[in-house]
Amino acid sequence: MGHISENILSLRQELPSGVELVAVSKFKSGEEILEAYEAGQRVFGESRPQELKEKALSLPKDIEWHFIGHLQSNKIKMTVPYVKLIHSVDTPKLFFEIERWCRQNGFSIDVLLEMHIASEESKQGFSDEEVMDFLAGIEKARQSWDNEGYPSQVRIRGVMGMASLTEDEALIRREFAHLNSIFDQIKATDYPFLGQFDLKSFGMTHDYHIAVEMGSNMVRVGTKIFGPRGVRLS
Ligand SMILES: *Cc1c(COP(=O)(O)O)cnc(C)c1O
Repeated sequence: MGHISENILSLRQELPSGVELVAVSKFKSGEEILEAYEAGQRVFGESRPQELKEKALSLPKDIEWHFIGHLQSNKIKMTVPYVKLIHSVDTPKLFFEIERWCRQNGFSIDVLLEMHIASEESKQGFSDEEVMDFLAGIEKARQSWDNEGYPSQVRIRGVMGMASLTEDEALIRREFAHLNSIFDQIKATDYPFLGQFDLKSFGMTHDYHIAVEMGSNMVRVGTKIFGPRGVRLS
């Protein structure tokens, strides 16, 4: 058995049931992905639209692809058709453009709202205030247009976040606790358009063990499965 299958099997043993493993395969080859697939892995995460599309077209059709990277509006059309979940909706503008594209093209999709929880400025995502304003804005529009079904094509399923890249476990815990609290705040609004709001995507190679302790139900793990990426662009 190769390293990749061993890593998949040991991760699955380690993760509690109810925690989805997203195998982050960005920059990794089709052969490497197939080794994980043969070990039973079906959910893979990619961060670049072109790479995702090529892999989705050439690899087995029962793979469930997730998009986890920064998505530019002009790449919506080459991403949505291939993915089950977009983890990284980080602005109202992106959300509404996905909604509009899906309406025009007869697609629907699940998304997560990416929250800025790290102390690092560089990371993207909504602030608490921005996300609450954004959701309140949707609710207001929905009521004033008397449009019960809005938004119809894009289902907001939960939140995603990336903690600081640090050895400081206490800081990582605080950042994940922050993400949990924003999840709870959003859920508590009970906005009817939220529907099934149940996903918390947090935890990567360096912090997934903490994430799981703190209630993540979706971890995105790359390096621990596939080894280091040659280049680290995202
Ligand atoms: C690359 C990436 C991961 C995986 O990171 P590893 O440290 O290799 O586990 C998870 N989430 C996002 C958003 C990423 O871009």
